Amino acid sequence: MPAPLKLYDNFTRSLRVFEPLRAGAAVGIYTCGPTVYDYQHIGNFRTFLFEDELKRVLEWNGYAVRHVMNITDVGHLTSDADTGEDKMEKGSRRTGRTAWDIAKLYTEAFLEDMQRLNIEPPTVLPRATDHIAQQIEFIADLERNGYTYRTADGIYFDTSKQADYGYLARLDKAGLEAGKRVELGDKRNITDFALWKFSPPGAKRQMEWPSPWGMGFPGWHIECSAMAQQYLGDYFDIHCGGEDHIPVHHTNEIAQTEARVGTRLANFWMHGYFLLENDAKMAKSAGEFLRIQALIDRGYDPLAFRYLCLTGHYRSQLNFTWDALDAAATGLDRMRRGFLALEARPDAQPDALLVEHFTAEINDDLNLPRALAVAWETLRGDLLEPVKRATLERFDRVFGLGLATWQPMQEQAPAEIEQMAQARAAARKARDWKEADRLRAAIHAAGWDVEDRPDAFLLKRRSP
Ligand code: AMP
Ligand code: ZN
Repeated sequence: MPAPLKLYDNFTRSLRVFEPLRAGAAVGIYTCGPTVYDYQHIGNFRTFLFEDELKRVLEWNGYAVRHVMNITDVGHLTSDADTGEDKMEKGSRRTGRTAWDIAKLYTEAFLEDMQRLNIEPPTVLPRATDHIAQQIEFIADLERNGYTYRTADGIYFDTSKQADYGYLARLDKAGLEAGKRVELGDKRNITDFALWKFSPPGAKRQMEWPSPWGMGFPGWHIECSAMAQQYLGDYFDIHCGGEDHIPVHHTNEIAQTEARVGTRLANFWMHGYFLLENDAKMAKSAGEFLRIQALIDRGYDPLAFRYLCLTGHYRSQLNFTWDALDAAATGLDRMRRGFLALEARPDAQPDALLVEHFTAEINDDLNLPRALAVAWETLRGDLLEPVKRATLERFDRVFGLGLATWQPMQEQAPAEIEQMAQARAAARKARDWKEADRLRAAIHAAGWDVEDRPDAFLLKRRSP
């Protein structure tokens, strides 16, 4: 009997057995996607990697997954208190390009990095700017249900109308109210948030739309409620994001959906905890930040970063250091070489006991560090090589390290070695085995080995 899948739900603050809401249907997952005003940093990718692992673990358990990830290309302000500038307009000023151009540029860069990290693409990748009508409709329903009010700069959600507002974050509403500062502006309560912001009087924004309340743009939280509802329905299985989303963004998504349809949006709320840099928060607004490209520029395989993330549990913060990345790169290299050296046999099956052990680890709230330990046990153990190989290949469905497709970097052999190998290939073709063997020995003596492939040969430098 395989171990049941248990996931930590931040809403109930408990480990719960996962059961899909709709038996037989795909598991619905919504994950908050990137704000595309700049590149994503490696911290963002830690969260996206956690979400990818979650999907892979669900798939391992036999579920089909319907994954929706939004692209935030409007409405995310520089301050969570609904003040400050739209990050897109700010990014536009920084780069001298239009807000639409930078949205395109950074969305493409994000998708390229996702691919480099072997993250499975979402089923649906909706852009906020393509769903303005749905957001307006959502706000109109909230207005009809009596949850909104108007200020000089927008339409706001009145959080005092909901007794359980802030439950996800266990918000201390009284404490927040008492500590409120000038940033309250025209808002009635410190936790109230913008649903629709008006374009500044007399100014034309690059991204603005007409609405029943006036020209403007949607608040950041409404896009997720609207798009989640459109693509996953009123109440779906799992909602994810980074830990920073708990007190504001996800709290507000829940408030909106409850106010519109009366359900609590998602059955499980899961959060990836932060990647820190030198024990401090990694933030794009700080200006300098590490991208996947920076790792590549330093000679790292992006999958070494994926391996690094597998070594820490998603519910603990992880401190990024170059030493830690070095250790991950070494671990990955050893695992790849160990795997490559294993004899392959097409009919080999994974070892049932190890698969069961592995399942118990990943089903224990995605314990990937312990699952990695099972993989190492497999590689170092005394099973037959083809069984080890089949077992590791199966595990890699969850790790996503591409073990079966990896090849060591080919070093170009010098011309005379290449010529000898060509001559040997010709000798083999002519069935002159003696000459072929002589050439193989000569190549070997010169420090190279030749391996035969169905239609070619491969030259590899001999290890010292
Ligand atoms: P953003 O592009 O800022 O909207 O963030 C994209 C995702 O990355 C969100 O789920 C954030 O919660 C998450 N995130 C932001 N900073 C970090 C970090 N340092 N470590 C892990 N996840 C992060
Ligand atoms: Zn969101």
